[in-house]
Amino acid sequence: QAAVDAAILLHTIIDVPGYPRPGIVFKDITPLLADPIALAKVVQAMADPFKGRIDKVAGIEARGFILAPLLAARLGTGFVPLRKAGKLPRATWSENYELEYGQATLEVHRDAFAPEENVLIVDDVLATGGTAAAALRLVERAGAVPSGFTALLDLGLLPGRGVLTGIHAHILHTLA
Ligand code: AMP
Repeated sequence: QAAVDAAILLHTIIDVPGYPRPGIVFKDITPLLADPIALAKVVQAMADPFKGRIDKVAGIEARGFILAPLLAARLGTGFVPLRKAGKLPRATWSENYELEYGQATLEVHRDAFAPEENVLIVDDVLATGGTAAAALRLVERAGAVPSGFTALLDLGLLPGRGVLTGIHAHILHTLA
């Protein structure tokens, strides 16, 4: 099981204060994605703890879409998109969740998973955990088992990781 050096993450993810709104420090992962060594290391470190335990990898729109298919290819599974409302063309299940200002919805195709498949859910950053919790509910709603969660960074907010109790969660780095 590969550990990823925190320095790699902290040097290739850039803090952008005040984006997209005052008071938010946005974690820009595009430099990490552009760095071949950092990208290979994070894909290995995110995927390998789940080797042999996962049937499908589900990515949360939008930055989970970049990482999840790389993990799926490494794990030898398929990829399923968990999309924002109104983007999927066929019948969907939906889960609503609260944002700091307002509400959002995640959707998945009703036939995306086989019954009881073990699903690894992928995103870039865990903040309050609201998005991750909605993704877990959505996978359950679709008849599969949300058995794993992985992300690059846990911002250390509440409830944050608290929403992941009972599932195998592996987040590469937690900010104090
Ligand atoms: P939350 O639902 O509060 O855990 O927020 C997590 C979701 O919002 C993830 O999909 C992240 O991509 C995004 N997100 C939240 N906070 C940040 C941040 N500071 N920088 C980058 N992405 C963020």
